[in-house]
Amino acid sequence: MEDYFELIGRYQYSSEAIILKGKLEAEGIAVFMRDNNTVDANPLYSNAIGGVKLFVYKDNYSKAMEIISQVSEYSLDDACQLMKCPNCGAEEIDRVTSIKDFKSLFAFVFSIFLGSLPFYSKHKYKCVKCKFEFN
Ligand SMILES: [Zn+2]
Repeated sequence: MEDYFELIGRYQYSSEAIILKGKLEAEGIAVFMRDNNTVDANPLYSNAIGGVKLFVYKDNYSKAMEIISQVSEYSLDDACQLMKCPNCGAEEIDRVTSIKDFKSLFAFVFSIFLGSLPFYSKHKYKCVKCKFEFN
């Protein structure tokens, strides 16, 4: 399966993933969501399993990333992988969202529909190795 699909992002809440999924599908890109049922059933599991994941076909990867970078505060490019953990120096860094409440989620949804940058949505980076979180 990994041969055909490429991970385009992970999200703490399925609502966030669903919005991006809808946006990508509107652009004609097939999107596959994983672990959303687990996260919906128990949101506390979201961090443990790495959030809701979105996949696209490898052929659509660059186009999908382009669209995501238009709606996202950060473009999910290789810059993320070049970052180092300030705590242990590891290079495996995950980008995690920190939408914590309905107000920020609503603002996030609203801003995407308006086509502007999310005002309340903040992103953090999390070290895969030591779980240290930083901005
Ligand atoms: Zn670390």
